[in-house]
Amino acid sequence: MNEETKSEMKMNLGIARGFAGGEDCVVSHADAGGPCGRPGNRMVWELAFCEVHGAEAEAAALAEITEDAEIELQALRGAENSRLDPERDHEKALLLAYPLIEGRADPTVTNFNYEAKYSGDRPVDGPVDWWAETRYLLCQFMREANGQGLPELVRELEALRERASAQLVQAEDDYERRYVAPYRAAREASTAGS
Ligand SMILES: [Zn+2]
Repeated sequence: MNEETKSEMKMNLGIARGFAGGEDCVVSHADAGGPCGRPGNRMVWELAFCEVHGAEAEAAALAEITEDAEIELQALRGAENSRLDPERDHEKALLLAYPLIEGRADPTVTNFNYEAKYSGDRPVDGPVDWWAETRYLLCQFMREANGQGLPELVRELEALRERASAQLVQAEDDYERRYVAPYRAAREASTAGS
């Protein structure tokens, strides 16, 4: 990838901090708990976000181009964050921005049969993979739509991205609770009995 393409990609992310345009945070999807209401003070994809949702959106936007293009992350993030592990940083930001909301898990999550699907020899994707992939794709579409100067479309995609982010948190929790924890308990019980 050449320098021109790289700087164009960065520009298309529309990232700015310390922004004070008097707009509220864009996050408003019901799965994310409804309208955030906090003042927007940072921008990603040229949309205004509050500090918490902005940190998550920025991490998601950077993760998308990093995975895609292996761009120098350090230059984009600035010196203050340069020592953080981007993957872990991203997950932390996600959990802060989209805390689990009881009763809002999508049926794709709650209806998934881990026992049946994960017992085969070949690995299959589950809800965590589906929602993570969806979120990743939405970030890609948002970068491209912003690059094409389509703010209305970016805003509509953002609502879908909020839903995907909230459902990813639901899927991670569900996987841990309905699959990992019982599996671990069963293994411990059998170890104790032998
Ligand atoms: Zn917010």
